[in-house]
Amino acid sequence: MQGSVEEFSNTEIAFAHLSEAGLKRSRLLFKSFNFPGLLRFGPFLANIAVSIGLKKLIRDTIFSQFCGGEDIVACRKTIDRLAKAGIGTILDYSVEGEENEENFNHTFQEILETINAAAGNKHIPFSVFKTTGIIRFELLRKQSSDESLTEAEQDEWSRGTERFNSICSHAEKLDVRIFVDAEESWIQDAIDRLAEKAMMKHNTRKAIVFNTIQLYRHDRIDYLKQQIVDATWYLGFKLVRGAYMEKESERAKVMGYQDPIQPSKEASDKDYNEALKHCIHHSDKVSICAGTHNELSCATLIKLMAEKNMDSNDERVWFSQLLGMSDHISYNLSHAGFNVCKYVPYGPVKSVIPYLTRRARENSSVAGQMGRELSLIETELKRRSRKGASV
Ligand SMILES: Cc1cc2nc3c(=O)[nH]c(=O)nc-3n(C[C@H](O)[C@H](O)[C@H](O)COP(=O)(O)OP(=O)(O)OC[C@H]3O[C@@H](n4cnc5c(N)ncnc54)[C@H](O)[C@@H]3O)c2cc1C
Repeated sequence: MQGSVEEFSNTEIAFAHLSEAGLKRSRLLFKSFNFPGLLRFGPFLANIAVSIGLKKLIRDTIFSQFCGGEDIVACRKTIDRLAKAGIGTILDYSVEGEENEENFNHTFQEILETINAAAGNKHIPFSVFKTTGIIRFELLRKQSSDESLTEAEQDEWSRGTERFNSICSHAEKLDVRIFVDAEESWIQDAIDRLAEKAMMKHNTRKAIVFNTIQLYRHDRIDYLKQQIVDATWYLGFKLVRGAYMEKESERAKVMGYQDPIQPSKEASDKDYNEALKHCIHHSDKVSICAGTHNELSCATLIKLMAEKNMDSNDERVWFSQLLGMSDHISYNLSHAGFNVCKYVPYGPVKSVIPYLTRRARENSSVAGQMGRELSLIETELKRRSRKGASV
């Protein structure tokens, strides 16, 4: 049975979980992203605010918009609130600390905890991790460009890959599906190799390990198609456009190699939709999660599912957005019976400031998204005041 979604424009469904005060707080926050000065000095100001005891200010504003809490237990309220609307949570440990073994081991333990929290809990349908949270960036770069490692680096690499493999084994043991996030292109080959091996090992009964494909790269549609040709096991893919566009183009220019990014936004959109189509066509062995805030891509996926006579809640197809963004997509999709989950970042307020800064910058740089968030909030506030006036 297929549900239907009319242009994701029902703001009553989208914002039913927010009080009027909550809506106004979100409006103020999205408006503040309009000030370039605030964005530029935001991280610095946020760090100062936390260190002089104004943590509550950060926690009650930007943190509460985009994060679930400071630890897994504190995320309970968010998990329950999303579950009420039929939306799943993906606990995303978003602390970006110094690169050392102690922090890598700490992050590793935390990821295992997110898997434990997801085990047997239908409200937490996936876990997730970033490889750079458990393996040093420079090592991933060297491995991606086939540079040789020193003996000490080889030991370090073994410890890192042991953490990677243990996470995937733990996920399979507890029957929890897990996303490996995609990162910068110059470390992605090493991440791909680890994820491919993990899929081969753990995806024999169904897709447990999901690799992430960034369709803003012009070479990724071919990579995706080849993976599907080669695999004799189940495949899981999170499909995204990609988050490091400026950084990628800048590095390519400085170092004089071909830019890995598509020549235009339209080219990224085309490959994204092509990837959806190809995966749905091969849904006998491919499961996907569309990690996107793009309404057209979501509508395209709905159409592809209908053409293939798939149920709206077919376990092989999920939609995902980030907490605090594009609620109109998440809540309307869930209301129509589709599988939806939200990334719920968490961690100590001070340690997630780099994550929050990126969200604020993304909202101001992703064409139209901030305007869209604001106009939907305005529409809902107007709708409520009209309704109040007519009672
Ligand atoms: C649940 C979830 C998980 C995610 N996981 C990851 C991850 O693991 N790794 C990762 O890198 N990102 C990840 N992202 C972020 C994602 O890659 C995008 O940056 C973000 O979602 C914006 O893209 P969109 O599809 O939502 O929306 P849109 O607004 O339609 O697209 C914006 C995106 O299009 C691309 N783009 C914009 N302009 C151009 C141009 N001129 N030429 C070519 N391409 C262009 C860029 O990727 C830009 O971010 C995730 C997002 C979500 C919602």
